[in-house]
This record gives sequence, structure tokens and C-alpha cells, in this order.
Amino acid sequence: MAEIGFDILIIGAGPAGYVAAIRAAQLGFKVAIVEREHLGGICLNWGCIPTKALLRSAEIYRYMQHAKDFGLSAEKIGFDAAAIVARSRAVSKRLSDGVGFLMKKHKIAVIDGSARITKPGEVKVEGKGAGTYQAKHIVVATGARPRVLPGIEPDKELIWTYFEAMVPKTMPKSLLVIGSGAIGIEFASFYRALGAEVTVVEVLPQILPAEDDEIAQLARKRFEKQGIKIFTGAKVAGVEKRKGEVVARVEDGKGGSRTMTAERVISAAGVVGNVENLGLEALGVKTEKGTIQVDGLGRTNVAGVYAIGDVAGPPMLAHKGQHEGVVCVEAIKGLKPHPLNKNRIPGCTYCDPQIASVGLTEKRAQEAGREVRVGRFPFLGNGKAIALGEDQGLVKTIFDKKTGELLGAHMIGAEVTELIQGFVVAMNCETTEAELMQTIFPHPTLSEMMHESVLDAYGRVMHV
Ligand SMILES: Cc1cc2nc3c(=O)[nH]c(=O)nc-3n(C[C@H](O)[C@H](O)[C@H](O)COP(=O)(O)OP(=O)(O)OC[C@H]3O[C@@H](n4cnc5c(N)ncnc54)[C@H](O)[C@@H]3O)c2cc1C
Repeated sequence: MAEIGFDILIIGAGPAGYVAAIRAAQLGFKVAIVEREHLGGICLNWGCIPTKALLRSAEIYRYMQHAKDFGLSAEKIGFDAAAIVARSRAVSKRLSDGVGFLMKKHKIAVIDGSARITKPGEVKVEGKGAGTYQAKHIVVATGARPRVLPGIEPDKELIWTYFEAMVPKTMPKSLLVIGSGAIGIEFASFYRALGAEVTVVEVLPQILPAEDDEIAQLARKRFEKQGIKIFTGAKVAGVEKRKGEVVARVEDGKGGSRTMTAERVISAAGVVGNVENLGLEALGVKTEKGTIQVDGLGRTNVAGVYAIGDVAGPPMLAHKGQHEGVVCVEAIKGLKPHPLNKNRIPGCTYCDPQIASVGLTEKRAQEAGREVRVGRFPFLGNGKAIALGEDQGLVKTIFDKKTGELLGAHMIGAEVTELIQGFVVAMNCETTEAELMQTIFPHPTLSEMMHESVLDAYGRVMHV
């Protein structure tokens, strides 16, 4: 096949890659994107989107069980696991097809196959679109895959990763989830809502380790009330597979150990970047702990080679990768984008109750030597929350005591994953308490709690 030249060639069509491709096309570059499996990457096919579809079914099921609370009646409430999964897969397919449409619209060449960088400016593809391609700039956006814990290797049957957990053939009656980050907790929440006995084992002292301690503690209480068993500071030290079940040995970190039996195990102990077989070593591209080292503009240590998204390091979130993609190609164009500021990347967990945050936790702010003012507002004091039947939750805000800078916001409760963006915008505009207090929030909305939390930090709270 003849050599074909592009300005920018992107390896991987996940959210980081395809958004970078669109922005590059908008900037007038001739762009190609190579994808070995599915447009939309993990996010659209096996991550963000299909989980949210599953969790939506779980949420509606929960509402149906509480129909009476709203003056409604619903009888013979049940679910069809296959139909729930089918809906989730259909949602994924629709969005993945949508990426194909966007690539066409922006005249981006989509090359099917597995890509490897053979020398600066050159990529070889194996597969349907096999060939050698030239590009001045090569952007690696190859994403990540599940981290495998030694001795607990996933087998697709009894020990699952998120791939199998997303498409269960039948609902397990009992489930052991290893890891309480967003992925583990979302699956724990989904399966518990549909009736499975769920146990979560977390090696760190708190669940949702990235979240503010107070929020994580509230989440734990709510999960335990729902019947999820949680063990923190504990480690699954080994598993024995039997017919239709797994017996796990869990060490408590203090010399004690116990066994736990579950029909299925979900290993959700994080992800590792896809850095292998890309020709990075030969090029001398620096990698560390399974991710490619980049600066805030996606540049690696090798000229003409860039990395964005999960493969470029944590936090491994779709919106972080998409932002990196935009910044990376804008910098290539010679524009002056702001380098990625990792402190302003929101994180959301779509479990019941939802959890959302941005910026520093109270502890990290203190560790950073900041004197803080903290505001809190409970869902109990908000009219809309009570009208919705969702009166449990908290909005917590953290300010720098001296300057009034908003350092972080942390929330738990209904729809907080939609609310957090208000604080992200505020932080991006380097807002202080003064602007936030002067802002008018619509009534009645859950967003009023954001206002109240700020007011609370400054001794002006109204509704508690
Ligand atoms: C269960 C689950 C739920 C999640 N939920 C959320 C969420 O709610 N919100 C959120 O922000 N994030 C979520 N994530 C994380 C999110 O999916 C990732 O951060 C995101 O997909 C990363 O995007 P990416 O473009 O870097 O990589 P990916 O989406 O992994 O895409 C990389 C693409 O590169 C392709 N590829 C790899 N190597 C090659 C090669 N050599 N040649 C050609 N193609 C290649 C792959 O096939 C893949 O399609 C979730 C993840 C999981 C697993």
C-alpha cells in the first residue's frame, strides 16, 4: 500500500482521541485516527456510557419499589436482566455509531487496525486498514485496561473485570467487589439495587479513596444501610475457584483473616495504560507505572509524539482525556491553550447516592498548608430535595480562609453529578466566596444547596 501523509495521526478513537481529531480538523489539519476495535473506546463501549445505562435501570427499579411514597402504585415489580443489558448495549452502539458520523462530518480518515510507531513521523497499521502512514504529529490515545491482581486473574466466568460485569448472562446472587473506586462502587450499587448480596473489599482505609473523608463516610453509611457489606483496610489475599463460586481469603491488615464466598468476583483494582507494542521504547518515549509521561500540553519527551487520555496518566476520566486532546492539538497549532490543571478536573461516581467533587479535599487543603473555611449544607434543608423524596445528602465547600478562593467542593446525594459543574466553572473563573454569595440560584432547585453551602462557610446560611 502506498504511503499516505497526514498532519496529525491519532492512535485510538476513545473520547480523548476522537475529540482531539475533531478539534484538529476544526483547526484545518489533515487528520487520521486509527482504531483497532471500536469507535468511542472504553468510554462509549465498556465504560462511562453503558454503566450509566445500567445504573439508570437500577434507579428506575428503586423508584418503582418506592412508588407508594409518591402516591403511586406498582405491582409485580421485577426486572429482566437480559433486557437491561440489551438496553445498555443499544445505548453504547448508538453513541459509538455517532462517533462514526462525527468523523465523516469532519472529514477525518478512520483507519481500522492496530497501529505502531515505527519511527518519528511514521506509523504502521496492521488489520483492515493495513499500511504505512506518515504524519508530522502522532498522538497516542490508546487508553487503559483493567489492572490484574496477581493470583486473582480474571477468567471471564467467575472472576470478572468490567467487561463481563457489564453484560452478565444472569444476575449473581452474591458478589465480591475488589476495589472501591468509582468503577467498583458503581457496579456494587447496580448489583445491590437488583438484589445481589454485595461485599466490597478496599485495601485503603476509606472507600472512594479519592473523595473527601466526610463524604466517603456518609457514602459508606448509605451503602451499608442498603445492605452492602464493606471492609476497608482489607485485602483479598487469594481466591479459590469452585463450581459456580469463589472463596476469597481476606486479610484485615492486622494479622486477621476470613474467608468470603461469592458467586462472582469483580476485580476493580484500577486500570493500567496501554503502552505496549506501540514502538515507544525504541523511540525513547518515557513511560512510568504503565503511563506515558507528558507535560500539560500532551507533549512527550520525543518531538512529534504526544499522549492524551488514560494512557497519559491519572485521573483516568473521559473528560480529562477530551480536554487533553483539545489542549494538545491547539498547542500543535501554535495557539496558547492553558496547560491542563489537574486540580480542576471534576470526578463523579454515579452510584446511589451519587458523589461528585472538584478540587482539594479538606484534608488535602490542610496538608497543603492552607487555612480553610468549610461550609456544609444538608439535603434535608432544601425544598426541591424534599419534594423529590431525596432528602439525604450533603454539599460541602472549602475556601481559603485568607483569600476566599474556592479550593474544593464535595457532594453526595441526588443529581450531584449534574450540580458539580457549577463549582467547576466557578473555580475555573478563580471565583471567591464573594461572587458565589452574590450569585442568584433558581428556586426551587437542588443547586440552592451550593449557594447555602457557601453561605454556611461564611456564617450566613439561611435554611438550617
Ligand atoms: C466501567 C467503567 C466506567 C467508567 N465510567 C466513567 C465515567 O462515568 N466518567 C468518566 O469520565 N470516566 C469513566 N470511565 C473511564 C473512561 O472510560 C476512560 O477514562 C476513557 O475511556 C479514557 O479515554 P481514552 O480515549 O483515553 O481511552 P479509551 O476509551 O480506552 O480508548 C482507547 C482506544 O484506543 C484503541 N487502541 C488501543 N491501542 C491501539 C492501537 N495500538 N492501535 C489502534 N487502536 C488502539 C482502543 O481499542 C480504544 O478504543 C469508566 C471506565 C470504566 C471501565
